[in-house]
Amino acid sequence: MEAVLPGQDLWLRILEKVEAEVKRPHFLTWFQNTALLSFHDGLLVIGVPNIFAKDWLENKIGAQLMEAIKAINPEVREIMIEVDPHLGLPDDSRGVDVNKTFGGKKTRKLPGRQEVRLLEGISSKCLNPKYNLQNFVVGPSNRLAHAASLAVGMSPGSIYNPLFVYGGVGLGKTHLLQATGNEILRNDPDKVVVYMTSERFTNEIVEAIGKRNSKEFKDRYRRVDCLIIDDIQFLANKDRTQEEFFHTFNELYDNGKQIIISSDRPPKELDSLQDRLVSRFEMGMIVDVQFPDYETRLAILHAKCRDHEVLIHSEVLEFIAMNVHDSVRELEGVLIQAIAQAELEHSTPTVRSVAKIIKKLGRDTNFQTDTLESTRSLHPEDVIDIVSRYFRLPAEELLGESRKSGVIVPRQVTMYLLRNELNLAFEQIGSECGGKNHTTVMHACMKVEKQLKKDKNLLRDVNSIKKEMGL
Ligand code: ADP
Ligand code: MG
Repeated sequence: MEAVLPGQDLWLRILEKVEAEVKRPHFLTWFQNTALLSFHDGLLVIGVPNIFAKDWLENKIGAQLMEAIKAINPEVREIMIEVDPHLGLPDDSRGVDVNKTFGGKKTRKLPGRQEVRLLEGISSKCLNPKYNLQNFVVGPSNRLAHAASLAVGMSPGSIYNPLFVYGGVGLGKTHLLQATGNEILRNDPDKVVVYMTSERFTNEIVEAIGKRNSKEFKDRYRRVDCLIIDDIQFLANKDRTQEEFFHTFNELYDNGKQIIISSDRPPKELDSLQDRLVSRFEMGMIVDVQFPDYETRLAILHAKCRDHEVLIHSEVLEFIAMNVHDSVRELEGVLIQAIAQAELEHSTPTVRSVAKIIKKLGRDTNFQTDTLESTRSLHPEDVIDIVSRYFRLPAEELLGESRKSGVIVPRQVTMYLLRNELNLAFEQIGSECGGKNHTTVMHACMKVEKQLKKDKNLLRDVNSIKKEMGL
């Protein structure tokens, strides 16, 4: 069984120090699901879930991080940052959930998800609090599964037992299972809920068999009120495990305890599972989750933006929703990469930048969109069009005579881009921009150039627009 990593406590103390020194959104974004992987001979290895976090930690706050670490433990001589994509996955308890651990409350809790030892020694992942039934977006593809989960969450062991959820990869099964467990605990914190993947269940059994105490193993489960086994298809061809599970199942079922199971296919199609197990699964409620339709996908993206506290143009979200066809996990992945990348580049995600991310995933590149510009060479009208869309100003207003600052700045940005990116002469820019005098154009270009040096928001806008122009 996994223990809490020995360095976890050291890492928490380091995080506590860093938290006080970096901006909160940065802290929450870049330290989420980080962990201390090892510490030997002065070399401290930090694990991060993705390349963007590594990049940020190394390049943006490398020196500051080193200082903070040395202040906590002077024996550290060197730090290394390693990408480990498993960090933060539901089955991985190493990463620190900074949202929970550093959730703004002054009382410091232990790391979010850690191994718990139940009374009789069943080890189980704590449920991940980020999954709940309230943040699961409901649509036609998952309405029944959600309703059944809610019913089980309210009265476990009574109506739908077992609850069997099936569907393809990344469609929300683990989310629903964990959320149901969380809901049961929310309604009654004294309940014992155990969540396990079927691999882990197998390991437990192998361990018990090795120690010749399979009776003891069985007895442990008597205390469980709800047993959740994720991805049951992995029990295929593991006869001994299936046999133990069959007994555990019966024991729990006969005592009115809830069982929740997920699988990548319906019970009938679980060919390599013993028939008697399959028929047990069919006694209860069987529900499926499917790939959500466009509206639900869009709603999920909006919900995830709220979770991450970011604002993204709805045009960009619509583009993602329209062009991701595989799973909700991928939908979320594209969004998170877009946010991370924009953060690194001090820009906001654009249709063009998310298109690149989707392309990198090797998905179809025949994008469905009415907004993506092709990479043909740019004309002044294109620039005007992109700027006017970016600032949500009609072109007539952008190029008109209005003196409102909400219009003047975008107008000056247009002129600046025509000058700097298309190398047009001041006179030509003036005539492209609704017949302005060349001195007006010169003044605008100088103004923007000066402003860019001190105004981060303007810099971000200009960078985003340049990206949209394909630069
Ligand atoms: P599965 O277990 O079916 O492979 P997951 O439960 O791990 O899929 O879901 C993948 C990701 O998609 C998770 O981050 C999950 O929160 C998210 N997700 C899936 N469906 C929904 C939904 N309907 N609403 C919100 N998030 C969802
Ligand atoms: Mg899963």
